[in-house]
Amino acid sequence: METKVELQRFYPTELEVANIYQTDTEIRIKMSARSKSCTCPKCGTISEHPHGTYERKVQDLPILGKSTWLLVNTYEYQCDNPDCDVTTFAGTINGFLNYYSRMTDRCADFICTLALETSCEGCYRICKTMNLKTSGDSVVRLLTKQYKLQEENKCSSVIGVDDFAFKKRHTYGTIIVDGATHKPVAILDGRDGSALKEWLARNKHVRTVTRDRASAYASAIQEILPDAMQIADRFHLHQNLLEAIKNTVNSIVPVDIKIPKDYDKSGQETGFQGTNEGKKNPMLCG
Ligand SMILES: [Zn+2]
Repeated sequence: METKVELQRFYPTELEVANIYQTDTEIRIKMSARSKSCTCPKCGTISEHPHGTYERKVQDLPILGKSTWLLVNTYEYQCDNPDCDVTTFAGTINGFLNYYSRMTDRCADFICTLALETSCEGCYRICKTMNLKTSGDSVVRLLTKQYKLQEENKCSSVIGVDDFAFKKRHTYGTIIVDGATHKPVAILDGRDGSALKEWLARNKHVRTVTRDRASAYASAIQEILPDAMQIADRFHLHQNLLEAIKNTVNSIVPVDIKIPKDYDKSGQETGFQGTNEGKKNPMLCG
């Protein structure tokens, strides 16, 4: 029966465990990278040109409730592509440790999954009890980073565009919905049309856009996709119609309307006492 766990088995073969230091609250694992080449994060060229070595401190998933830190001795590389403007970049372990990341990929994946199932603050509180060091703001940053790394959703040639409030009267965004599936395909910052222009430039297959009647979206679509058909959607036409009717009624009906007092059959004023069997004088009320 085995009574020991071989720590090396929990790490990729490119990393070699050298030393382990532990206290009552945390574990530090010193390791060195075996790999002598790395892919440039910008141009994809494989570099075998180490610039120097340095120690990266990254957080990994806690081991039995103790914070776990990896002290990875790794190379920094120079990109060999003369057309690439990246000077140096940190060595990475694909699927385990990303460029300049302060935690392992599995640690980041765990935090993002937990945040999506609970909330950013809820995730932070659970991580705290597990001795996984993070904060509510870090969880938000991590989710945003993961979102940007995702491939853009493909959509059909028919889309709907509308604005929505992240926080009413303060921050607004733009949502794009696929007309074929009726599912959201993108959420953009702001509603002035600038983010929509960038999105449309990457999705020039779009042919039909339903939108509200605001000019910002109309001009953005006209500028990027001049041949696309723009449709004012039924919801906004209905909303505009109701608003026009309300404004018209407000302009016709005077601000003060005098309500005639009730009269009895003999023409005597009785006030609002409910006498005369509730009948109104037809001469006064029309
Ligand atoms: Zn490069």
